[in-house]
Amino acid sequence: MITAPFEYRRAGSVEEAISLLGEGGEDAKLIAGGHSLLPLMKLRLAAPTTLIDIGGIGGMDSIEADGGGVRIGALTRHVTLQNSDELGVVQAVAAGIADQQVRNRGTIGGSIAHGDPASDLPTAMLALEATFNASGPSGERQIAAGEFFQDYLTTALEPQEVLTSIDIPSLDFGWGYEKFTRRAEDWAMVGVVALVKDDDVRVAFTNMGSTALRGTAVEDALRGQSLDESSIAAAAEKAADGTEPPGDLNATPEYKAHQTRVLTKRALTTAAS
Ligand code: FAD
Repeated sequence: MITAPFEYRRAGSVEEAISLLGEGGEDAKLIAGGHSLLPLMKLRLAAPTTLIDIGGIGGMDSIEADGGGVRIGALTRHVTLQNSDELGVVQAVAAGIADQQVRNRGTIGGSIAHGDPASDLPTAMLALEATFNASGPSGERQIAAGEFFQDYLTTALEPQEVLTSIDIPSLDFGWGYEKFTRRAEDWAMVGVVALVKDDDVRVAFTNMGSTALRGTAVEDALRGQSLDESSIAAAAEKAADGTEPPGDLNATPEYKAHQTRVLTKRALTTAAS
C-alpha cells in the first residue's frame, strides 16, 4: 500500500502540464482527483516516475451552457455534477458514483481519461455522443466519445495530451439510468443508460466489455418502432448481443448478460415515459 517513489510537479496551466509531460517522458502521469491513479500506484500496478498535478489549473472546473448543449471542464468534480440539477442524466450518473468522499475528489476528466469500463460517466458520455477536447504539443483537437474508448484503460489520448473539457451537444432527452451493485456505493456490476427523444433512441452499458459500449443491437431493434411495453421488451432481450462482459468476483458473464437485459428494459421504460 505504499507507492514507488516519484517526483511531484504542479502545473499552473494546460501549456505547463503539456511541457512537463514532455520533460517527464513516458513514465510521467497527470493526476487530477487521484482516486483512480493513486489506488493503482499503492497496489504497484502503476509506478509513474513523475506525477504532474493539474488540480490547481484555473478555469477548468466550470459548467457552461453552449448552444443547445453544455461544456463541462475536465476538472469538474463528481460532487459538482451531482449538485447540478440542469444536467439530467449526467447528474444522476455522477450521484451514483462510489461514496461522497470519492465524489468530492474525483473529476469527470479523470474518469474519462482513465478509460475503465466499470466507470459510470464514460457510459453516459457515449450515449450523449459527447465530444472530448484535448490539448497537446501539436495544438487542440476534438475526439468523439464513440472513438475515444479503445480498450481496457486505453483511450485515444496521446501520452502528452491533456483532456481539457467535454462538450455534450444536448441533454434534452427522456432518460433512464440503472446501476446494479451488490452493495450500495460499489462499482457497477452492470450499468445501463437509456436516452429517448422522438425516434432517437440510445442505449449504453457499463462493465459489459473492455470499454463502455453502445447497445447497438437494442438501438437497431427499436429503429422505426414506437416505444411500448412489447417493443421495449423485445429489444431489451438483445441487450447482451455483441458484448463480452468480463467475469469477476461478483458476477459471471452469463449473470451480467441477464442483468443487462433486465436493466435495459427498466431504463428504456423510464426513458420512454
Ligand atoms: P485520477 O486518478 O487523478 O487520474 C486517472 C487517470 O486519468 C490517470 O491516468 C491520469 O493521468 C488521467 N487523467 C486525469 N485527468 C486527466 C486529464 N484532464 N487529461 C488527461 N489525463 C487525465 N468511479 C466510477 O465511475 N464508479 C464508481 O462506482 C467508482 N467507485 C470508486 C470507489 C472507490 C473506493 C474509489 C477510490 C474510486 C471509485 N471510482 C468510481 C473512481 C473515481 O470516480 C475516480 O475519481 C475517477 O474515475 C478518476 O478521476 P480522478 O480525477 O480521480 O482521476
